[in-house]
Amino acid sequence: MTKQKGNIDIKTENIFPIIKKFLYSDHEIFLREIISNAVDATQKLKTIASMGKVKDDLGDLTIHVEVDKKKKTITVRDRGIGMTRDEVEKYINQIAFSSAEEFVKKFKNKSEAESNAIIGHFGLGFYSSFMVAENVEIKTKTYKKGGSTKAVHWECDGSPEYTIQELDKEDRGTEIILHIDEENKDFLEDYKINELLSKYCKFLPVPIQFGTEKIQEPIEGEKDKDGNQKTKEVERPKIINNPNPLWKTKPSEVKEEDYKSFYRELYPMNFDEPLFQIHLNVDYPFNLTGILYFPKVKKDYELQRNKIQLYSNQVFVTDSVEGIVPDFLTLLHGVIDSPDIPLNVSRSYLQSDNNVKKISNYINKKVADKLAEIFKNDREGFEKKWDDIKIFIEYGMISEPKFYEKAEKFALLKNTEGKYFTFEEYKKHIEPTQKDKDKKLIYLYATNVDEQYSYIETARDKGYDVLVMDGALDSHFINNLEQKFESSGFARVDSNTIDKLINKDDEAPSKLDDKQKETVKAVIERNIDSQKFNIVFENLSETDMPVIIMQNEFMRRMKDMEAIGGGGGMMGLGGLPETYEMVVNANNPLISKILNDKNEEAQDKLVKQVYDLARLSKNLLKGKELTDFVKRSIDIIE
Ligand code: ADP
Repeated sequence: MTKQKGNIDIKTENIFPIIKKFLYSDHEIFLREIISNAVDATQKLKTIASMGKVKDDLGDLTIHVEVDKKKKTITVRDRGIGMTRDEVEKYINQIAFSSAEEFVKKFKNKSEAESNAIIGHFGLGFYSSFMVAENVEIKTKTYKKGGSTKAVHWECDGSPEYTIQELDKEDRGTEIILHIDEENKDFLEDYKINELLSKYCKFLPVPIQFGTEKIQEPIEGEKDKDGNQKTKEVERPKIINNPNPLWKTKPSEVKEEDYKSFYRELYPMNFDEPLFQIHLNVDYPFNLTGILYFPKVKKDYELQRNKIQLYSNQVFVTDSVEGIVPDFLTLLHGVIDSPDIPLNVSRSYLQSDNNVKKISNYINKKVADKLAEIFKNDREGFEKKWDDIKIFIEYGMISEPKFYEKAEKFALLKNTEGKYFTFEEYKKHIEPTQKDKDKKLIYLYATNVDEQYSYIETARDKGYDVLVMDGALDSHFINNLEQKFESSGFARVDSNTIDKLINKDDEAPSKLDDKQKETVKAVIERNIDSQKFNIVFENLSETDMPVIIMQNEFMRRMKDMEAIGGGGGMMGLGGLPETYEMVVNANNPLISKILNDKNEEAQDKLVKQVYDLARLSKNLLKGKELTDFVKRSIDIIE
């Protein structure tokens, strides 16, 4: 057969120039496309062989990637099924071309941003090689015997014209030779190829060789003077992938340690161990495998998204999985592999895709079930992990009602003693301490155990329990729980006096009458910034502090929201003023002393002192005022 020229059957317009400019920032995917074709061809050969239809020995099926900087070529060589001349005409010139045409048509008018949002960009296939190559050759020999099964050589220079001729090639399989153009010569650097291979091909199911590596090999029968095995350095071809990644193994066959080492394989730069993992494995009604890890979050963590990698039959697709897994799970690490996720469509389409919804629901449920199982089988272990995993669970409960339904049985609340309770347990725990059946059940909480220490102590002295809610999401979570829990509310320990928060049947009588209260109020007002404080009297016990500063729960939440940008606009200009409630304990002897002191100077001094003490308990005393307080205290002691 002599050299023949032919024209690729172009239906609409010449797409080569478009391919060249196409998806500029994603030129690198050509390598994944070419190598996944080689993997497919190899897998097909194995399947056909398993049916007894291959005459030759399969031999070594490793796929080789070679870079020749002088010739400016990248070669991908497989020992798969290969193609006959007719097949090249059919698959490369017709089918592959028209599907590339279709793909290009769909996306050519999209902006770069939109195109880049197309997950994975599967679909361009073989012709994506023309994004980086000025000329592409195929040398291929089919596994089939007899007839017209001679090897063929196809070549195309990025114009619709191609040549095809017979070739002397003994070995079965296909060699794709890309002649890289000037603009893309960076791809001829070993480091670049290594980078792409480790990004896209790390877990492909057929061994892929690129370059060499040096290893220490034992020298047989030779030991050094300490009796240790002697080794020598040898260079050998380097296999860049792990063809049997752990997620493909049956969960029942995997040991705990395997999960940990696989985590290190996925994230070599991450030195923390994961807290635990969930192995996903279904094949009906869709196919999905994977491993999701709960990472350890540092105290000053930065939540990292995009640590989950999405694969389709072990081919890397993307590491931005929003829209595919429930939002809160994008904070996890790991791998999801599913050929059932449509890959060449836009994100907005993905979110409404039914398959994707099912997958998302499945993952959601699976994660909740696994957590429920750990909780049930090892409560102690679960409690130990709680502080680390609570951020994920709270986020899930806030954002996914379905997850909430399951999680409310294992989500925990921690009190200031470090004890953990489920919602139900906690309700039972505090109910007896709050006798008034008609009143809302109040969940007291602290957001900072040190800063709110005196308030926590007061509550605890009176027999009330206090929760620790110091997590990054806790303020949202509290709002969420209030909506879910019927007839109960949350109140920070410093939001009001305990007696006000949790109504007692019998209020203590007051030692002061209204007139006396007015007198005390006037003395206080001339000594404090009365703009900031709203003075109220309460009949607490004699041993309670004379003056306590409180911050109304509602106002504080509004301020918090404003701080994170939620309420600012709503509140209009200038933001909310900082206001506090100053509770004066009418029954504390010091207050009577202030009332009865005839010396105004002495009165002022006392008021200032109790006022500062109250502010000190609430961390409001700073700078000059703090120094003044210290000086005055020394004065008083002297
Ligand atoms: P896709 O892989 O999505 O079918 P491609 O454009 O990548 O589309 O490839 C088109 C076809 O060319 C493949 O379906 C296959 O039949 C054939 N082909 C490509 N590369 C190889 C190869 N290395 N070995 C055998 N056949 C191949």
